[in-house]
Amino acid sequence: MSFKALGLDPNILTAIEEAGYTEPTPIQAAAIPVVIQGGDVIGIAQTGTGKTAAFTLPILTRLTSNPVPQGQRRRTRVLVLAPTRELVAQIEENVLAYARHLPLKIAKIYGGVGEKPQKDALRAGSDIVIACPGRLLDLMEQRCADFSQLEYLVLDEADRMLDMGFLPDIRRVISQLPKKRQTLMFSATLSKEIETLTHEFQRGPKIVQIGKRANPAETVTQLVYEVHKHLKMPLLSHLLKDEKMQMVLVFSRTKHGADKIAKKLESTGVKCATLHANRSQNQRLRALDDFKTGTVRVLVATDIAARGIDVDGISHVVNFDFPHIVEDYVHRIGRTGRAQAIGDAISFVSPDELPDVRKLERFINRGLVRKKAEGFDYNAAPQPFSDERPERREQQRQFQQRRPQGQGGGRPSGGGGGGGGSRSGGYGGQGGGRSGGQGGQGGGGGRQGGERRSSSGSAPRQPAQMPQQDTSPAGARGLWKRLTGR
Ligand code: AMP
Repeated sequence: MSFKALGLDPNILTAIEEAGYTEPTPIQAAAIPVVIQGGDVIGIAQTGTGKTAAFTLPILTRLTSNPVPQGQRRRTRVLVLAPTRELVAQIEENVLAYARHLPLKIAKIYGGVGEKPQKDALRAGSDIVIACPGRLLDLMEQRCADFSQLEYLVLDEADRMLDMGFLPDIRRVISQLPKKRQTLMFSATLSKEIETLTHEFQRGPKIVQIGKRANPAETVTQLVYEVHKHLKMPLLSHLLKDEKMQMVLVFSRTKHGADKIAKKLESTGVKCATLHANRSQNQRLRALDDFKTGTVRVLVATDIAARGIDVDGISHVVNFDFPHIVEDYVHRIGRTGRAQAIGDAISFVSPDELPDVRKLERFINRGLVRKKAEGFDYNAAPQPFSDERPERREQQRQFQQRRPQGQGGGRPSGGGGGGGGSRSGGYGGQGGGRSGGQGGQGGGGGRQGGERRSSSGSAPRQPAQMPQQDTSPAGARGLWKRLTGR
């Protein structure tokens, strides 16, 4: 099928040709005609399937076939809501490309940067507004936006917006929009919650579903390396010796973890950038740019920050930590193999993460291939403490000093103490039991950045407090547990 057969405006067809697209992707072929006919759509498609063009191209066509009469004030006709600033910036980039031959004004609204230019853009009248819900609501409350003539609403990555707690903001934004409008909703999965949303915000939507629910993009080869936690870093360095890993996106569950991985890789001569919510907007944009242009070979990112990254040519995605949430896995691996390209998704899985892998396998209804890295020593001993965070080392040092003397060689008594300070045993090795304590990421940007704090995940992690007095065996056991999680 050709784009021409879909009934798109000639100016848009020219822009598509200039973008180098030769034929529509399946979601585009399925969604574009429905949107052009004016129907509401629920698009179920993973990232990387071309869903941005699937909603943008037909909306642009409808805008041009029904232009605002000359002399009339420009009002916003299209609102696109998306969960993160990265995604907003990326959608804007796409819309600008597809609308390059059309006389349209486009504004992007997200937190973490000054409000003034965004207020000016809204007040001047932008045909298309692409926004994170939190900042948009702030500006709406300041009466900067006029959505009284709005005709099209798009909720992109709706599942993610729900996960991030945006539902109340979305409801408040939508309550101020005209009831008569066309509403398009895109999500990687069709969950009960998404179905509820469609009843609330859409009218008789048509479901356009590509592939099975949450079926990870089919062009991606998915491999699992089962490896003890303390060997994940050496394994990553080992795999990166392969030159085929030219453009690698590494996912860490936590911000601190991302920094630590990047630091380690840098120390072995691998150029890296990091992307997470503690980084400023400029730092994030620079990191993305360095990655896109090949200045750095590896980008280490957390889930929320990486949401919506649209970088062509990512050769490998590495799940350094296996995600707890199935949808996160889908989004992570969707970063490679974009628009029919081939990519590999590699997951490092320590024994404590196996239940999450099984959960995913049940969800996608198939097993993931297990692989062993050739020439890698899976029995290597953990490295010493030097890898740990400074405060953690200090806690360990204090603990060593405080251990009750004269009890079985200074070890905390009782088998549960787990080896009295030696961290080499068991699966945990280094950092065992830490992942739970770090509790995810997504805080720094907060509402400002279109990234919402989750109640458990984003408060700065406090180092465990050292008890001042209690050096009894029971106290030492409790302390040991708090320090090591074991
Ligand atoms: P998306 O799923 O919208 O994030 O798109 C993923 C990538 O596919 C983006 O880099 C788009 O530029 C690209 N893309 C979208 N539609 C097509 C198409 N029909 N042919 C080739 N690439 C496309």
